[in-house]
Amino acid sequence: MTVDGAVVLILGGTAEGRASARALHDSGIAVVSSLAGAVPNPALPVGPVRVGGFGGAGGLARFLVEERIRAVVDATHPYAVGMSANAVTATAATGVPLLRLVRPGWGDRPEAGTWCWVDDHHEAASAAAQLSERAFLTIGRQRLDAYRELIDRPTVVRVVARPEHVPPAWVLVEDRGPYRVDGELALMTRHRIGVVVTKDSGGTYTSAKLDAAGRLGIPVVVVRRPPVSEAGGPVVRTVADAVDWVRSLDSAAQ
Ligand code: NAP
Repeated sequence: MTVDGAVVLILGGTAEGRASARALHDSGIAVVSSLAGAVPNPALPVGPVRVGGFGGAGGLARFLVEERIRAVVDATHPYAVGMSANAVTATAATGVPLLRLVRPGWGDRPEAGTWCWVDDHHEAASAAAQLSERAFLTIGRQRLDAYRELIDRPTVVRVVARPEHVPPAWVLVEDRGPYRVDGELALMTRHRIGVVVTKDSGGTYTSAKLDAAGRLGIPVVVVRRPPVSEAGGPVVRTVADAVDWVRSLDSAAQ
């Protein structure tokens, strides 16, 4: 049980966020999950959920105090750097313990050495443009502006929710994971894809594209992860470790 009945805040929007809510809830620990509200019909975790931004680090700090949050598990996506930075600032200001739960990337896959690793989306666009006329962009919708180099090419863009502007030459595929290898093979073959562009998201929800690209001999461009803030307290890779961390806070407080 949590000390004083206070609540653990899970910053979610990921499979890890939902799994953490489930695991903590099943351990008798009160949680509230927070989602950005960026996509329609999001998969919901068990337990109470709040939706929408906090209004920056200051708004999050107020939320932590008003809702008597005793610990924060930042289980946001590895590329959600704004939310994670706010979590670091707000927890430092309020003294609330913070844990970063970040899933391992795909760099340990045997074929990762054959991929073209780049530091940002502009580099990814240039690399993709050189590798093929027909790119498959699986990088979400937020950074599509960086792919202007591909604007006149028959580029396939897969997104969960439709972006505001889609160049006429592009093919938009609205879909969400988990994806299967047979579906990815069919999509890449149908559109005669010549290069796959991805973030190093990690996990299994969206990894089928890597298997499919490998089987078809299609090159893969990977945008490296932003670094995890060292100021943000401990970092764990698994939900089980996150649960242990929350339990360790309870033991320390008793
Ligand atoms: P971001 O750039 O780091 O966040 C932008 C702003 O959105 C934050 O400053 C915050 O607004 C709000 N926000 C983000 N996550 C939130 C959360 N869990 N609860 C409440 N507010 C949140 O994040 P993003 O890259 O747009 O990602 C948005 C959400 O989608 C995240 O929860 C993330 O886990 C999930 N997601 C992201 C990706 C990705 O590739 N980036 C992929 C899959 C899922 P305020 O400043 O107003 O608090």
